[in-house]
Amino acid sequence: MIPMVDLKTQYHRLKTEIDAAVAEVLENTQFILGPNVKALEQETANYLGVQHAIGCASGTDALHLALAAADIGPGDEVITTAFTFIATAEAIAYTGATPVFADIDPETFNIDPAKVEAAITARTRAILPVHLFGQPARMDLLGRLCEAHELLLVEDCAQSFGADAQGTQTGAMGELGCFSFFPSKNLGCYGDGGLITTRSDSYAERILALRNHGSQVRYHHDMIGYNSRLDEIQAAILRIKLRHIDEFNRQRRRVAHRYNELLRGSGVITPREDGYGRHVFHQYTLLSEHRDEIMKALQARQIACAVYYPIPLHRQKAFAHQGDQVSLPVTDDVTARCISLPIYPEMPDEHIVTITDVIRDVAG
Ligand SMILES: *Cc1c(COP(=O)(O)O)cnc(C)c1O
Repeated sequence: MIPMVDLKTQYHRLKTEIDAAVAEVLENTQFILGPNVKALEQETANYLGVQHAIGCASGTDALHLALAAADIGPGDEVITTAFTFIATAEAIAYTGATPVFADIDPETFNIDPAKVEAAITARTRAILPVHLFGQPARMDLLGRLCEAHELLLVEDCAQSFGADAQGTQTGAMGELGCFSFFPSKNLGCYGDGGLITTRSDSYAERILALRNHGSQVRYHHDMIGYNSRLDEIQAAILRIKLRHIDEFNRQRRRVAHRYNELLRGSGVITPREDGYGRHVFHQYTLLSEHRDEIMKALQARQIACAVYYPIPLHRQKAFAHQGDQVSLPVTDDVTARCISLPIYPEMPDEHIVTITDVIRDVAG
């Protein structure tokens, strides 16, 4: 059996350090907003090259709190992609704003800046690109659009911890960056967790209050906030894993490039790296006319695979009220042909060979 991700091998590699760090939190009994969260916030801010990094309860909350801190709300439109996990658009909807879906680039699957420009209206307040599958979206072009139209640029970095473009990390490019520490993400904890990054002192101050019941001073509530804190156990685990993130991402790139090499000439379209940023391969996603046959053949050999994402957001019931008006032909086409293969830093070469042999048989 070959799984999509193998979290156990990585845990065993770091077990001594992680077990000790968790035990220390249990002994200290300071479980919420303690020294590990503070240290992780400083260490991630340093790593990402951004003034402020603020822990919160999940990637979904990171997006929600970032948009709320920027006062996005009813009557506003936020342009994003429909080829993403639902949380990206859910967070927009939580604020009362409307997600507006723009089509994607057929090669990188990231939001297409030309389509974004065409979707800008008088109500548009922000652009929310996703660095999908770990490849940085075209922040240079999107940044120019934001300047020209006075829009806010908010990054969904849930899949891109450690990816950079032109020397800047994802999360340090827009006004606000939103990360997820869901266990299977490039930097994952052992539960739920998230992080918001920003250069802005005033956004940081609002987010610090919003994540903790609108309060900076205990029992003084300046606004209605939320209970959305990263806990100490997760922060302690993340501090250890952060020291290895570059190695994890290097290994993911090794796996991806080996797949590319072994699939050359097989007829499938391997992931395109556009040269703008450094792809950290949260997912390794192919396109093939034979997608469904490939899936069946892999499953028959006990090899995991997945379709990310089988239903784009403009076709979800939750967003059905706007479904018929939007036409996203590239998103629909990619959805029909995409398949993601197992990828994780510790993935052995034999697995890559086994998987690509099966695909070559079907697609060739
Ligand atoms: C995982 C993910 C999220 C949500 O993160 P959670 O921590 O699961 O809430 C948001 N956006 C994208 C693109 C994701 O992949």
